[in-house]
Amino acid sequence: MARETIEDAQRICAMEAPTGAEGPRGELVARLLAEAGAPAVETDAVGNVIARFGEDDAASPGARPPVVFAAHLDTVFAAGTPIAFVRDGDRLAAPGIGDNSLGVAALLHLARHLAGHPPARPIWLVATVGEEGLGDLRGAKALIADHELAAFVAVEGTMAESLVVGAVGSLRYRVTVRGPGGHSWGDRGTPSAVHALVRMLDAALAVVPADRDDVAFNVGTIAGGTTVNAIAAQASAVLDLRCGDEAALQAIARDVRAAFAAADDGLSVDVEQVGHRPGGALPAGHPLLHCARRARERANLPAADEVASSTDANAAHGAGIPALTVGISTGGNVHRLDEYLDLPPIADGLRALIALADEVSAAAF
Ligand SMILES: [Zn+2]
Repeated sequence: MARETIEDAQRICAMEAPTGAEGPRGELVARLLAEAGAPAVETDAVGNVIARFGEDDAASPGARPPVVFAAHLDTVFAAGTPIAFVRDGDRLAAPGIGDNSLGVAALLHLARHLAGHPPARPIWLVATVGEEGLGDLRGAKALIADHELAAFVAVEGTMAESLVVGAVGSLRYRVTVRGPGGHSWGDRGTPSAVHALVRMLDAALAVVPADRDDVAFNVGTIAGGTTVNAIAAQASAVLDLRCGDEAALQAIARDVRAAFAAADDGLSVDVEQVGHRPGGALPAGHPLLHCARRARERANLPAADEVASSTDANAAHGAGIPALTVGISTGGNVHRLDEYLDLPPIADGLRALIALADEVSAAAF
């Protein structure tokens, strides 16, 4: 059973899918889901591929909203990146093989199971777009905006040792300062966009609490000016603020944005939000968590570390939908060209995924 999934993962991986250009991979996955026995497969307006199970009486009053199992289609690799598979003992290396070709292939495995064992409640398998980079969870957010969901399970290729029960939230901004510019001597006294940006970044760094280990603030890039003896007419920076608590994230973000409010006369400052991954956590004791723990037991997997991370499940946490993330195997060098996947754990990871679907199918939430 693992061999079929490894072959599926390679077929998926071989079809490039940079964030924002997932279309061809989406078409492939839609075809594979139909071949796996999904009774209804559709592609939505943003490019998510959705396979619905257990909906025979969905039109009847009182039909329950679906539980979603989602795996992202996109990769961090640019169009044209060569995809070669390198097998080394129990490892298989290729760009994107674990993140997230294996996760999508696991959905196909789950589709074959559900086709033979129709669930007692609606279960949707969704291959999403826009999870990586500045995709900003576009697919997961659209799915959640368009449909009422009972729960959301994100499936990742290489996170099998942990259950991701919390979402580290992030807010991302591009700050741009503009001014008149001029000659560094002849126009001395004219405000500089670079000087102003540096001062404001310093103020922003000062307002982020340094004593919380669940907060991170990163000035990822800065750019500006044209040459040594010209007053900079333009300067910009891209910022990433993260926090495990959504309310605290929003409060710190307000303080950070305020640091960019006071520019010198003659300068303009533009703060553009370029990303938001909501933070949150599955409430302790939620039945979905019990389902996930029991599923691991049924697959003879050890109890998992219960951790926080950043996945498609963030979008669900932001909307108050119970959510977690499960992994299928382990691996390493994620987001690198030499990314690899460990093959032996896949079989147990697939067993745990099927057990989770069966647990969820029988659960009352
Ligand atoms: Zn990734």
